[in-house]
Amino acid sequence: MPRQLFVTTALPYANAPFHVGHMMEYIQADIWVRFQRMQGHEVHFVCADDAHGAPIMIAAEKAGKTPQQFVADIAAGRKAYLDGFHIGFDNWHSTDGPENHQLAQDTYRALRKTGLIFTRPVEQFFDPVKQMFLPDRYVKGECPKCGAKDQYGDNCEVCGAVYAPTELKNPYSTLTGATPVMKTSEHHFFQLSSQRCIDFLQEWTQTPGRLQPEVLNKIKEWFVTDEQGHGGLADWDISRDAPYFGIEIPDAPGKYFYVWLDAPIGYLASLKNYFGKIGKDFDAFMADPKTEQAHFIGKDIVYFHTLFWPAMLHFSGRKVPDHVFVHGFITVSGEKMSKSRGTGISPLKYLELGMNAEWLRYYIAAKLNGKVEDVDFNPDDFVARVNSDLVGKYVNIASRAAGFIAKRFGGRLATSRSAEAASLLQALQAARDGIAQLYDDREYGKALREIMALADRVNGYVDTHKPWDLAKQAGQDTPLQEVCSTCIEAFRLLTIYLKPVLPALAAQVEGFLRIEPLRFADADRLLGAHDIGSYQHLMQRVDPKQLDALFEPPAVETPKPGGEDLAPTITIDDFAKVDLRLARIVDAKRVEGSTKLLQLTLDVGEGRTRNVFSGIQSAFAPEDLVGKFTVMVANLAPRKMKFGLSEGMVLAASHADEKSQPGLYLLEPTPGAVPGLRVR
Ligand SMILES: [Zn+2]
Repeated sequence: MPRQLFVTTALPYANAPFHVGHMMEYIQADIWVRFQRMQGHEVHFVCADDAHGAPIMIAAEKAGKTPQQFVADIAAGRKAYLDGFHIGFDNWHSTDGPENHQLAQDTYRALRKTGLIFTRPVEQFFDPVKQMFLPDRYVKGECPKCGAKDQYGDNCEVCGAVYAPTELKNPYSTLTGATPVMKTSEHHFFQLSSQRCIDFLQEWTQTPGRLQPEVLNKIKEWFVTDEQGHGGLADWDISRDAPYFGIEIPDAPGKYFYVWLDAPIGYLASLKNYFGKIGKDFDAFMADPKTEQAHFIGKDIVYFHTLFWPAMLHFSGRKVPDHVFVHGFITVSGEKMSKSRGTGISPLKYLELGMNAEWLRYYIAAKLNGKVEDVDFNPDDFVARVNSDLVGKYVNIASRAAGFIAKRFGGRLATSRSAEAASLLQALQAARDGIAQLYDDREYGKALREIMALADRVNGYVDTHKPWDLAKQAGQDTPLQEVCSTCIEAFRLLTIYLKPVLPALAAQVEGFLRIEPLRFADADRLLGAHDIGSYQHLMQRVDPKQLDALFEPPAVETPKPGGEDLAPTITIDDFAKVDLRLARIVDAKRVEGSTKLLQLTLDVGEGRTRNVFSGIQSAFAPEDLVGKFTVMVANLAPRKMKFGLSEGMVLAASHADEKSQPGLYLLEPTPGAVPGLRVR
């Protein structure tokens, strides 16, 4: 019975290009999809950009674009990665598409009818300048435990303390630098804690075939409530206030769905969009009990996909997922991916260096299994597996045999063979169902080990019969044709088994063998009396130098100290024109009518004091400055200001972008200094 599959990968957030972690997931899912198609099953494989949320809204504003344009520009860059690594999605859509607006609002209305939606007021930080509620990541301040400055709203990177953003001391908005205020707003919630949800999710999560055992164990912990009633499933805040880039909540002006509500609905929206293009009935397909819905995701988004998502679908009267396949992360030489350092592998640079996409597909597949385990990319291991396994064991079989068939026998394969050759080919054919099961279980590493063990047997046969020796001996044409034909038959069988991982190479093989696209069922029979074309070189070995180039640190832009370029070079004579003196702050007071200025009385050792207006009110309380030393420009021409004459200028350090990086710092001498000393 052919299966009817709807397969997705997680929707990437549309604020950045793909990294190698995305490519690993796409390769994992693409291999599974190609395998299912080779089994004769019907598969629809879709994805989309996850377009909504505050980070994209803010990034778009910074880039001077509308969020729609910002997302479209990111989406335009996706094709090079997907085509480059042979990822065969049937459709790529966006969660901002009309299908998703409709489906998200319909889902919400259905949930509301079941009584699982409620509202309650939520108190949250609000940026009074930007006029918006601040997600936790946009609030910084001093750690309530250790006092470290510039810590995020959820945890301290210095002492490791975890706290609520409201506990920060001197909090500020990272968007404007403004002090946030507490403000209350009505939020919409999905009642995940209800007994109805718990009962459904217990049943859904424990249905065999849905989840990997280790994922199920993790989820069981989330259901547990302790004796004080803590823990267990919490209700889910599904609304955000305007301004927000998202989908409006019906009948709730100024309220939007939290991005995580409409993101998974984007799976359905992309399928619907695709079916619209090919003229297939979306509702009928989703209502068909034969349809299996499978999601490939990373281990960081299990909660969303195994609790919120199935509950939303079930209680809105929709089909629930049949499989959630969770994978680990990719590390590079044992190091975790870091947002600042990246992964060390840029997928596009990999392609630009002329590296073969199928080397990476093969390598990643060789390391993947059906468990939630991290995969490590190790450069030496990569070279070894590609060169000695993929090229050395598999590709070489064809290159050692095909030339003789073409040159000596007009491309015609022999049908007669020895008992040894027949039993070798039978063994290869008999391995089909076992390998198929491993692919279906996403045990790609085991599948490839099995295939390489078969390749070893074929190479053993080649080494025993040495076609290159037979070719030099007179009267050995029949055994030469038989041995080489057996090699070609074996190579074709191995190609069937490797095709989900190596689709482009398999297409080349199909071309030179002059055969129809291979399916798993084709392992039932051999080519027999068949004419093949001339052998074309199939795959290069990896040059280790390519990996050196891949890991070369990218040329970085020279960082701008303090946010600005250095001023043009001056001579020592230019500098000597500026007379800098140590000054003692004798008095400091606010200036009536100014929010910026402080009036300073300075002693510069002249037997009189000077009056200076300085724009440092935002950073200093006047009483804290009295008695302090600082540096002033003493020979600056006096300037008549609205509030009086300013006789010089006090030096202070600040970032070029004072809005996003507030902070003003006076320059103080080391102890023992007296007023009037020249700075030179
Ligand atoms: Zn701390």
